Amino acid sequence: MDVFSHGLWGGIAFGRRRKRDFWAAALLGMLPDLVPFGPFFLMALLGIVPLHFGGPPSLDNIPQFVFSLYSVTHSLVVFALVFGSVWVWRKRAYLPLAAWGLHILVDIPTHSTEFFPTPFLWPLSSAHVNGVPWSHPFIFFPDVILLIVLYVWFFKIKGGWKANGKQI
Ligand SMILES: [Zn+2]
Repeated sequence: MDVFSHGLWGGIAFGRRRKRDFWAAALLGMLPDLVPFGPFFLMALLGIVPLHFGGPPSLDNIPQFVFSLYSVTHSLVVFALVFGSVWVWRKRAYLPLAAWGLHILVDIPTHSTEFFPTPFLWPLSSAHVNGVPWSHPFIFFPDVILLIVLYVWFFKIKGGWKANGKQI
């Protein structure tokens, strides 16, 4: 899925309790893509790697570290270890962090083998799903519509965070 949708899904799924949790969940929902691709886009802007407009960049132009970081941030194994460690450390789960796990689950069926299939069992296995790319209208438009419906429901019908008695 695209990085903004990941943020919006993370926020609405795990940030409904209070505003602070929403922003944390939205950020944690986007980080799995921002961590590997952020430095790459910075390099493209600085002219270190070719800048590409319209459509995904050619895989040949993407540095190896992007693939390595992508494997780490898109692994349910790594996520479970971090989520569990944070749980043990805090003595309770940190719910906004679950947005990271949701990111991986959403990516599994929305990436094809041609462009960054989701290595959800890395480093134990290279298993992945040949899904339908999120840019396909079949995925893209239902995603946008569903997000609009959910956000209207949360803010207009449920009353947003205020309904929980806490605004921050
Ligand atoms: Zn992703």
